[in-house]
Amino acid sequence: MQATKMATAADVSRAARLRGRVLNFGAGPAMLPDSVLAEIQQELPDYQGTGMSMLEIQHRGPEFQKLIRQAEADLRGLMQIPDEYSVLFLHGGANLQFAMAPLNLAGRNACANYLNTGYWSARAIGEAQRICKVQVVADAEIYAYRNIPPVQQWQMDSNAAMLHYTVNETINGVEFHWLPDSGGLPLVADMTSMILSRPVEVSAHALIYAAAQKNLGIAGLTVVIVRGDALRDVPAGTPSMLDYREHIRAHSMLNTPPVFAWYVAAKMLAWIKQQGGVAAMASRNQRKAAVLYELVDASSLYQNAVEHSCRSWMNVPFQLADRTLEQAFLEAAASAGFVGLAGHRSAGGFRASLYNAMPESGVRALAEFMREFERARA
Ligand code: PMP
Repeated sequence: MQATKMATAADVSRAARLRGRVLNFGAGPAMLPDSVLAEIQQELPDYQGTGMSMLEIQHRGPEFQKLIRQAEADLRGLMQIPDEYSVLFLHGGANLQFAMAPLNLAGRNACANYLNTGYWSARAIGEAQRICKVQVVADAEIYAYRNIPPVQQWQMDSNAAMLHYTVNETINGVEFHWLPDSGGLPLVADMTSMILSRPVEVSAHALIYAAAQKNLGIAGLTVVIVRGDALRDVPAGTPSMLDYREHIRAHSMLNTPPVFAWYVAAKMLAWIKQQGGVAAMASRNQRKAAVLYELVDASSLYQNAVEHSCRSWMNVPFQLADRTLEQAFLEAAASAGFVGLAGHRSAGGFRASLYNAMPESGVRALAEFMREFERARA
């Protein structure tokens, strides 16, 4: 987006629509950068002189092998992933990782610690309970999932095999801006809705997973980053498709991989590098989120009750003080070119997702639209 600082909301959304685009604030699948889409479009009929599209290409052929080596190198570089970690590109979404993580790290007889800070933690817990004993270390229900329970209240099983947390709760908009202390136990993180949005300390984790459809491209691909020593006690008899060690041995090609999603992820990684890397993304994302939180906090129409210290940079949920205006808000937003703002079906209200591909000008345009909507009804 070429909009300058002086562009109004109307200018920015008009420019998007002139290109046949809208400003997509959806939580995932999420928007892609214009330049990434343009490259995909340009390469689609003939990938690098092969005479084939990426939709048809052989996954074991030299072109794709080159692409995935570059993608892994880019991810390792961007996240500063130490050598003792394997990087996997798998199918099955983050939901499959809800099962694979405890299956590989805890097994059936052990106990796993889980922090419950919202909808996705709860989903991870539900799946883990099918596999092993689960100790819910702290449950943010007492804060209506708008805060992270203080560490003094945590009740960890120190004999457990791991501690799992959801770094950013995509629906309730609660994010860890600090690293939980696992007391020496392997730390497992669901980074689906914040991977590459800011620097994280990979080496503090035994396992990190993230589905791709927010900051890393499109649905169908999940990135797993796992430290070798975390896989010492994978239970015998674990089906190979569920066993990280098998995927490591097969270089993420135990079966036909999601070729196109992997290709889009490679494009996104190159784009993030080109934008200045994860530190540049972080300052931009922090500024983007601040624009909306400042607006909401100063408004008497928009509300966000999440404790300030754990407000998400990626997903800003908000409610209208006057619920009767909800439909009018959504319609006015859509006709101004702002889409994907309805809250998750379990939460209602609204949510603006501000992943890496959302430009700052898009967020400022949304804020201007929201101010104008409020002004018109004051
Ligand atoms: N974890 C988090 C934090 C998410 O936001 C989502 C999807 N919105 C998931 C897990 C589930 O991902 P998937 O649909 O790829 O299984």
